[in-house]
Amino acid sequence: MQDTILVMNAGSSSLKFHVYETDGMNTLEFSFGGQVSGIGGRQPSFKVKDRHQKVLVEQALLPEQAQNLQLSQRVVGDWLGTVITKEPLAVGHRIVHGGPDYDHSVMVDDEVLKKLDALVSLAPLHQRNNLEPVHVIFENWPHIRQVACFDTAFHRSKPEVADRFALPQFYYKEGIRRYGFHGLSYDYIAGKMRQDYPDVVAGRVVVAHLGSGASACAMVDGRSQESTMGFTALDGLPMSTRCGQMDAGVVLWMLEQGMTHDEIQHLLYKESGLKGLSGISSDIRDLQDNPDPRARLALSYFTYHIAKGITGLLTAIQGLDALVFTAGIGENSALVRRDVCQHLAWLGVSIDPVLNESNQACISTPESKIGVYIIPTNEERVIAQQTLALIRDPYCVT
Ligand code: ADP
Repeated sequence: MQDTILVMNAGSSSLKFHVYETDGMNTLEFSFGGQVSGIGGRQPSFKVKDRHQKVLVEQALLPEQAQNLQLSQRVVGDWLGTVITKEPLAVGHRIVHGGPDYDHSVMVDDEVLKKLDALVSLAPLHQRNNLEPVHVIFENWPHIRQVACFDTAFHRSKPEVADRFALPQFYYKEGIRRYGFHGLSYDYIAGKMRQDYPDVVAGRVVVAHLGSGASACAMVDGRSQESTMGFTALDGLPMSTRCGQMDAGVVLWMLEQGMTHDEIQHLLYKESGLKGLSGISSDIRDLQDNPDPRARLALSYFTYHIAKGITGLLTAIQGLDALVFTAGIGENSALVRRDVCQHLAWLGVSIDPVLNESNQACISTPESKIGVYIIPTNEERVIAQQTLALIRDPYCVT
């Protein structure tokens, strides 16, 4: 059997995995990938597809089989044990938080794991879950190499003014910083642009990652200079169920009304954004063609604030040469791209409606002052690449 790299992405309600075949040096080919979804819910399921999108497994699970992440890992582990007869060369993990120190991915050892555990308080909703499979593998198969790949690392190149809040020094030292997230996606896009559009990536680029989570990143030469996201994945652009940028005073008001921490957290992370504004759905597909005025408002708010967020990044890079859309909404919603670009027309952004409707790689008109591109993201591939690079050379900086 060929050598493999296993990529894990453990979240609160899903456990995703991808398997890549490799010669351990240069080649990296996606083989299959899947996920347990609906963890902790009433209808969990397990699905796996191969590289041709052929469904290998599609199975409803009993709620007790996927009651938590630990049990879901067993489902994935048991199935993987039946198809991979040789241990993977290494396992790469998506870890949301690398804190102030990690500006690149890192091989996990005892000391690294302790440092990452200490960051749980910075991202309580994600970090503990992300680290769960790392611990399980570390305890049961300590000889398997593991690599932690961070969503924050790509943004460590931001200048200090973009990394701070206007709070006393104490808080910065405590780690209260504008970290920025979606870094693995931005890393992938920067790499893809280096390959396909080397002249463009050398300039001033904003990448809008619009998935169920959304943020935008301003880059020069493919390096992050500023991000709309800050200390947590709540800040910046409005999202499917998260509020995006909001006056901190609103949280104080909620506290004064007697709302608890957990109630506020639930509201801001799960009941806000498109879902909260529309009261209809968190999925843009349910809102795009919906004549209900609440759906129109949610969509208008979404695209206006995305454009406003993008404009807000431009001081950091002193202008704009190219705009890139990526992730589920950015790659697929012609309507969102159209409306965002209309808000940016004053900057000289102009897109071709036919190219936009058919999701072409470059959708700007020849007259547009700013190139507008659609680049599908692939965070798992970046994790596999960074993992391969580190097993080839443990001292390399990915
Ligand atoms: P995440 O990884 O953050 O869950 P994705 O990048 O997969 O998110 O994006 C999920 C979002 O993409 C969903 O909210 C969905 O509305 C949107 N989406 C997926 N497919 C389409 C489509 N064909 N048209 C418009 N939006 C889409």
